[in-house]
Amino acid sequence: MIQQTLVLIKPDGVARGLTGEIIKRFEQRGLKIVALKLVKIDNDLAKQHYTEDISKRLGEKVRNMLLNFITEGPIIAMIIEGVNAIENVRKIVGVTESKAALPGTIRGDFSHVSYSYADKKEIAIKNLVHASADETDAKNETALWFSIDEIFDYKRAGDEHIL
Ligand code: AMP
Repeated sequence: MIQQTLVLIKPDGVARGLTGEIIKRFEQRGLKIVALKLVKIDNDLAKQHYTEDISKRLGEKVRNMLLNFITEGPIIAMIIEGVNAIENVRKIVGVTESKAALPGTIRGDFSHVSYSYADKKEIAIKNLVHASADETDAKNETALWFSIDEIFDYKRAGDEHIL
């Protein structure tokens, strides 16, 4: 099943000059970038991305830390397309807590901090990337971040060997 999913390279990833390295991980797997932009977002868009639901699940404090982090500098937003793209992308990214992320994943190769360390500093964990969690989030998030005319349908060289 071909899916589209939202990936954000968070301010830490852009500031550390890891955008090429991160994008490469998706491209080398044969996944296709169908939308991409560098943006610095305001609190309004951040709140639509990290919705009220996060406050209910994790508390207002965690949501505020996430909002502060995602708005602190430029980020890359992209839509990635491929067979089971949502699951495939999340595997490449690794689990949310950097400390627990396996080597070989983006978070496991380039970050290491724990929730408890981040909580003590009252900051969001700098885990480099956001990737939509499931089909519902992917649908909502791709529509939130990109208009239809920013999403491209094209053939990638090598598609005939991959798809
Ligand atoms: P993401 O959806 O990948 O952008 O990451 C947001 C998720 O990171 C939240 O839903 C939380 O589960 C988690 N998170 C990030 N920082 C913290 C923190 N300091 N304490 C607890 N959870 C955190």
